[in-house]
Parts: sequence; structure tokens; C-alpha cells
Amino acid sequence: MWPSPNNYGRGAISRPKEVTMIFTVQLAELDAGSLALTGEVPLAELDVELHDELMHVTHPLIYDITVTLANEFLTAEGRLATTIDCECSRCLKPFEHSLVLEDWRLELPLTGEEAPPIKDDAVDLTPWVREDIFLALPQHPLCVSGCPGLPNPESSPTETASEAEPAPSIWAALDSRKTH
Ligand SMILES: [Zn+2]
Repeated sequence: MWPSPNNYGRGAISRPKEVTMIFTVQLAELDAGSLALTGEVPLAELDVELHDELMHVTHPLIYDITVTLANEFLTAEGRLATTIDCECSRCLKPFEHSLVLEDWRLELPLTGEEAPPIKDDAVDLTPWVREDIFLALPQHPLCVSGCPGLPNPESSPTETASEAEPAPSIWAALDSRKTH
């Protein structure tokens, strides 16, 4: 059931359960110079899952970064971009949120307490990529800034109550309180 090495990377065909190695850099390769990482990967393969009913990850992450190693510091910089399927937190209209980290930069010391885990002489940058995507997500997705939201029946209580509700306005007030 393991994906064969030939299929590896073809996300649409084989979807390995384990996280991809895309952002794993071999330190030996960096000794020879910088390393360019360019391509796209489904966010799900980076283990980016949003436990938010207003946001969904269905689009790939497009990355174009350069990794260098100098003075025991691993530096990655470049561009990360994706699109998040959102629903407006005020009016519930679906829309696409373009998430672009234009000047993304990561600097990791390879020694000391803040050093990343080094396994088989390689460092996986995925956790930092993932975290920066999370940090860039909108807190409350809005279809347009200042979206007025759904029409609010409580905005003009006297008019709504007297026109649409034959019942005394006290019942209308109670009803609207119950539904909220
Ligand atoms: Zn809206």
C-alpha cells in the first residue's frame, strides 16, 4: 500500500499519509550553495487542517523559496501563496481569500536551544511554513471589509414589529431574543 517512489510527488495520484518531504533540506546540499525550492503542494500534504467551519483548504500552496546556510544559520526566504475557501463570518457568502506571504523569511540557528531537529543531516522546514500560514489566516473572514452582514431584524424593531407581526411588539422582542 506504500506509494512507490515513482509516484512520489504526484499528489493527485498517490496521497501518502505521511507528510511530504518537500520542505526537508539536506544540509550537505546547502554546503555547496543555495537551494531553490519551487513548485506547488496540496496544503493537506503539509498537514494544514483548519478546524474552522468558515475556512477550508482545497487549493495548493505555491512556493518559491531559496534556502541558504551561512554561519550556522539556515535561512529560507521567498514567496508562499495559496487560496483559502472562506465563508464570510457576517453574511455567510462564500468567497476566496488570497493568502500571499510575499517576503516570507525564516532564520533558524543550527546550534543552541532554538535549533530545529536535525535528522539524517536534514532539516524539515514544514512546521515553520505551516505555522506562518496559520498566522496569516484571517481571524474573522469577511467577503468585503466592512461587510454589513445579513439584514438585521432588530435594527428597526418598531417598524418590523408593527408591519410584519400582528402580535404585540413584546412578543416580537421575545421571539427575536429566543433565536439569538
Ligand atoms: Zn459578507
